[in-house]
Amino acid sequence: MALNCGIVGLPNVGKSTIFSALTSAKAEAANYPFCTIDPNVGIVNIPDKRLNKIASIIPPQKIIPAVVEFVDIAGLVKGASKGEGLGNRFLSHIREVGALIHVVRCFEDSDIIHVNNKIDPISDIETIQTELALADLETVLKRSEKTTKQAKSIPKDKQGKLKIELDLLERLKTALNDSIPARALELNEDENEILRELHLITAKKQIYLCNVDEASLSNSNKYVEAVKELAKKENAFVEVICGKLEADIAALETQEEKLEFLESVGLKESGLDRLISKAYELLGLRTFFTAGSDEARAWTFNEGDKAPKAAGVIHSDFEKGFIKAEIYNCEDLFALGSEQALKAAGKLRIEGKEYVVQDGDVIFFRFNV
Ligand code: GDP
Repeated sequence: MALNCGIVGLPNVGKSTIFSALTSAKAEAANYPFCTIDPNVGIVNIPDKRLNKIASIIPPQKIIPAVVEFVDIAGLVKGASKGEGLGNRFLSHIREVGALIHVVRCFEDSDIIHVNNKIDPISDIETIQTELALADLETVLKRSEKTTKQAKSIPKDKQGKLKIELDLLERLKTALNDSIPARALELNEDENEILRELHLITAKKQIYLCNVDEASLSNSNKYVEAVKELAKKENAFVEVICGKLEADIAALETQEEKLEFLESVGLKESGLDRLISKAYELLGLRTFFTAGSDEARAWTFNEGDKAPKAAGVIHSDFEKGFIKAEIYNCEDLFALGSEQALKAAGKLRIEGKEYVVQDGDVIFFRFNV
């Protein structure tokens, strides 16, 4: 399960500011043994109001949120695909993440040098896109060579999937040569399957994160509008944030202070919270809960997972020895006010191995090992 998002962007666009704001409220690493301990990796709690609501109905000793990892991937400069800057090391980090957050500078500030001396988010995006496309092009060319050889030994009318693959590789070559990301291509199911096997960087889901000044948060600006236009063309997403403001908010200690601050600048929620939720969604991640007197906890599963697989997220023994699951949805708990009322209303179900877990399910697993 890909639980991580890489943060990329040109130097001086606000990556570090955003990364440190994101990771200022540290998640307790001991609860998440699967996470990487690395200075460039931040384990970030997923803001989920439902978890607190569950805890207010079934009071636990501890509340443990789900997490997602953000990786600060510094070092992308022009020429990275040819080994400039951190070059190859940079590319191998970027290949490992589940999705990308591409920070784009959309604020003016004469005190902060722009690497190209001009605020032009589209040109910045092109610089990065070109490096990533060149790295992918190399992968595609290698694969194409291999598949072409394979195809030579098979008559044309019997090539089937190989033919589809060769056609797709040609389309990818053309697109990548023009710095068009693989995610921008309209593909059918067969082609998508081949694309997944190629593990291309430009096929990863991507959020353009426009870093704006405070005034542009409510009014947008021409830079953000240009990025939105581009994102539409290439199946990417856009979020708008003021890195500086988020850093100020993150520096406050209590939740109350944060809310007060947000209100004073006319905002309802922090841009980072929105970004974290969007990243979680983009990775195809969903949440189920466990609730009891010891802890209320949010767990992450992949959309479409069946009950035993979801149980395995808690412990491999739960998956191996899975017997059944006692399940209700948290929305029913909120509507009825207590587990007792929920049971009386017949909303507690027993589900078996074939049950597809739903976002918001509260589950008690029965297992035997
Ligand atoms: P990185 O090189 O992409 O990691 O960029 P940094 O986070 O180090 O930011 C570069 C400079 O821009 C720093 O001096 C930040 O304080 C400043 N900066 C970051 N975000 C904002 C912002 O939203 N507005 C303004 N005016 N400056 C910012």
